[in-house]
Amino acid sequence: MGINDDLENLKKNGLFRERRVIHSAQGAMISIGGKKFLNFSSNDYLGFANNEELKQYMVEAINEYGIGAASSQLIAGHIEPHERLEKKLASFFNKKAALVFSSGYHANLAIASALINKNTIIFQDKLNHASLVDAALLSKGKLVRYRHNDLMRLHSLLEKYKGNELIVMTDGVFSMDGDRAPLKHLTKLCRAYNALLIVDDAHGIGVLGENGAGLVEETGLEKKVDLLIGTFGKSFGAAGAFIVGSETIIEAFIQKARTYIYTTALLPSLAATITHTLNMIKESNNLRLHIKELVVDYRMLMKKAGILAREFDNEFDSHIQPLIVGDANDTILLSDELYKKNILVPAIRPPTVPKDTSRLRISITAAHTKKDISLLVKTISNILRGHV
Ligand code: PMP
Repeated sequence: MGINDDLENLKKNGLFRERRVIHSAQGAMISIGGKKFLNFSSNDYLGFANNEELKQYMVEAINEYGIGAASSQLIAGHIEPHERLEKKLASFFNKKAALVFSSGYHANLAIASALINKNTIIFQDKLNHASLVDAALLSKGKLVRYRHNDLMRLHSLLEKYKGNELIVMTDGVFSMDGDRAPLKHLTKLCRAYNALLIVDDAHGIGVLGENGAGLVEETGLEKKVDLLIGTFGKSFGAAGAFIVGSETIIEAFIQKARTYIYTTALLPSLAATITHTLNMIKESNNLRLHIKELVVDYRMLMKKAGILAREFDNEFDSHIQPLIVGDANDTILLSDELYKKNILVPAIRPPTVPKDTSRLRISITAAHTKKDISLLVKTISNILRGHV
């Protein structure tokens, strides 16, 4: 089958993706083609992407460090802001050492060359982010996937492969479902089988925990997770990523991770800015509380409207609220109707999510208001009842 047939098939199956040009900074309100849209699709959970204080910081850092590193970290690109940021990240997450990457995809792929060899068995939750899956696929190890959050299944797989080098990799807050990995049980299982536990909490960091350190802080398990990954493209409102862990593990990445060694360093101005963002994240309990309240409102209103079965459920109380439609084309229709009402919630379809679970991924941020939430629910409800 040629490329053209391939593309036609994507169109036929409702899986063709189109980019929309956004004409403003990221935020709860964005402009598209001269019109204002209420935006429920970004990962800018704390509303920092267009924050005045952070923008000022970045401008000053550009004036000091220029527009880019123009070198990889191991040649001449490890600039003072990177070093400062790594120290700050290690202490923020209560770990010995940290390393920054140009993106979360780079950070996750780095695991393939830094930690995996031909004797490694990598266990992954079936709903893990694509970059974690790709790390295993590109490595020399063997990938074994387990049903979402199915601890019994993981237990029996660990038993089956015990004696090998074992690594368990999971999202913290799952990116498309918003539920959490059962971290406490995972740490116990990993300890029992001497498996390394890697958690990518790109979506939990900033939003969960007293200081915003994410799911590991919420569960008090900072010391029991061997390697924590986070990205600067979500709650930090920017781009880039980091890993934190023991000095030995971080050294293995510096020495062996191909996506660290062979790429240009993160913008130094961004590294300087992110150091400041970490202070702001720590102080953002009011924003975290606001998000929580909006989520309670959303679920209550969705239940009242007869769209959600359950109003509140601890497992699904996060800022990522999936509205599962099922069929890809039906999901696009719903998303298009919302778009006509100036609300942006793109359809998420396979392969990002499993077949027949296409959905609207509603992302509730600190920049939203109670009014925004009730408008969203009212509009969804009207569309579903055919009152549009
Ligand atoms: N991990 C998770 C869980 C993600 O959701 C994403 C991106 N959405 C990434 C990693 C990749 O991060 P980045 O966008 O910085 O490449």
